Amino acid sequence: MTKPTAGSTDPLSPWLPPYPESASDKPIIVQKYGGSSVADPERLKQVAQRVSDTVKQGHRVVVVVSAMGKTTDQLIALAKSVTQTPPRRELDMLISSGERISMALLAMALSELQHDAISFTGSQSGILTNDRHSGARIIEIRPVRIQDELARDRVVIVAGFQGMSYKREVTTLGRGGSDTTAVALAAALQASHCEIYSDVDGVYSADPRVVPEAKHLAEVSYREMQELADHGAKVLNAQAVEWAQRAGIVIQARKTHGSTRQTLVQADGPPERERGRATAVAAAAQVVDVATRRGPEVLRVLGEAGVQLRHLGLHDQQLAATLTLDDLPDFARTQAALRAVDPALELRDDQGMVTAVGPGLGSDPQLLARLLHELAQAGLHPGRVTTSPLRISIWLPTTEVQPATRLVHGLLC
Ligand code: ADP
Ligand code: ASP
Ligand code: MG
Repeated sequence: MTKPTAGSTDPLSPWLPPYPESASDKPIIVQKYGGSSVADPERLKQVAQRVSDTVKQGHRVVVVVSAMGKTTDQLIALAKSVTQTPPRRELDMLISSGERISMALLAMALSELQHDAISFTGSQSGILTNDRHSGARIIEIRPVRIQDELARDRVVIVAGFQGMSYKREVTTLGRGGSDTTAVALAAALQASHCEIYSDVDGVYSADPRVVPEAKHLAEVSYREMQELADHGAKVLNAQAVEWAQRAGIVIQARKTHGSTRQTLVQADGPPERERGRATAVAAAAQVVDVATRRGPEVLRVLGEAGVQLRHLGLHDQQLAATLTLDDLPDFARTQAALRAVDPALELRDDQGMVTAVGPGLGSDPQLLARLLHELAQAGLHPGRVTTSPLRISIWLPTTEVQPATRLVHGLLC
């Protein structure tokens, strides 16, 4: 793949004017705007203004957009009103349309501000994925068309959350996947960094909607952010953090309107925190626990259904696995396949999980004992616990997840 150079013409379209000198050495910035930032035409115009300001500061800008407001939820509900087990391919065809609306509208808003802008779907952007519908992984990006348009000094708008499989099918990247589109594009385009805009001005020590006294974090390391994202902190998508770490892309998590603070997600986190303190607490309100005596066979079914496990314990034939329903729109079908393998399989979905992340947290038995004691004292019912050196995860009834999050945050952060 050759990058267009200033002054040359496109060999496939030689009648077009040569690439302008102006575009060639400006740094590339990838900005991603989430659903709440483009929820209505007014906010969309404000985003266009922000993009315009970035262009005027001398950058080449690629903008990744999510679907407007709650569009994706509404499209999934629409599918479910037709069938409880929508085929994943057709669901991807449906829900990928949400981002297509935002991308076209933002390009229109930018042209209104006298910018030359063009929008692309995931497949037009060269985002190649595996063939797992509703939760595909990006394998490679060939951003030829994006580079071409940047070289023409255009602003490029990309529909987040989607790609094209090697079978040339439209795929979606899993809930929150526009973050992944943005970071993976930043890596492919060798952007200076990636700015992720949402309704919160960065990463806090807990979800500020649940813990109002949560502290703003100026920096978080990739490793800690990965654990938080994997355990329910939806401020950044887990696959996006994985891409950032692999490519060394610094993520600047910012708020679209009304704050200039940000969190840097990067390799060197802040100086090691005091042992026994958590950087942050994440929560998943609902998880699904599977218990079976036919572990290996059940694992095979879960694998065939493309289920990603959060936790797994296998002892002889006995399996205890935890998953979330986020990217399993047709879980009823998987459930039937699981029961066909083991009619005695136990499946419960009335629990959630609270996870504290920080250096050495999971290696300290005294700290865990104190935590469990305090939770019980508060009348809460901690169940299963798993740890890694960087993390403690505690299962509780779904109704107790929020009070437990506040309590764990109060004790450890
Ligand atoms: P977007 O739609 O822009 O992608 P999301 O809704 O996916 O935004 O993510 C932002 C939300 O993440 C916030 O509104 C906040 O409630 C939630 N959140 C969860 N954990 C955290 C955290 N540790 N720090 C900040 N926000 C968090
Ligand atoms: N619109 C998709 C979702 O709601 C992707 C995203 O917002 O990142 O999950
Ligand atoms: Mg998100």
